[in-house]
Amino acid sequence: MVKAATTAKKSGVKKKPTAAKKSAAAKKESVPLRYKCRMCGYVYSPLRGEPHNGIPAGTAFEDLPETYVCPVCGFQGKGRVGTWGFDEWRPTRYVCSMCDYIYDEKRGEPHHGIKPETKFEDLPEDYVCPVCATDPKIVVRYGNVVKQGFSPLYE
Ligand SMILES: [Zn+2]
Ligand SMILES: [Zn+2]
Repeated sequence: MVKAATTAKKSGVKKKPTAAKKSAAAKKESVPLRYKCRMCGYVYSPLRGEPHNGIPAGTAFEDLPETYVCPVCGFQGKGRVGTWGFDEWRPTRYVCSMCDYIYDEKRGEPHHGIKPETKFEDLPEDYVCPVCATDPKIVVRYGNVVKQGFSPLYE
């Protein structure tokens, strides 16, 4: 009986050294910050822009025209709130992409030893979604959902 020659071809994947990354230092590739109106709570999103006000999507807050005013305050007759009336705004809630569990910084997870007001980025590196962790179906199929599996919640 002829033994089938199994072509156990070990794919020789060449390891490319990724250390020396050419720094295409064009622009900071950081997430554009959102800004919240102190008066009315309106959040300016650079990703969204305000196309209806002539501000194209992708306009950073810093690049807004001098004449920019909060569209909501203006609409509500609260006066003209310029960029001076805005504060940096960052999300405080993060949602698990797998189960929609929301990590809320205000709440923390006291039962897991995470104090309220613990920032998402300050969570331990081995943090996993507490809900997915209790679901064997998810853990077996996908493994635990780590911090990278969460996305900021904007609303
Ligand atoms: Zn406003
Ligand atoms: Zn989850």
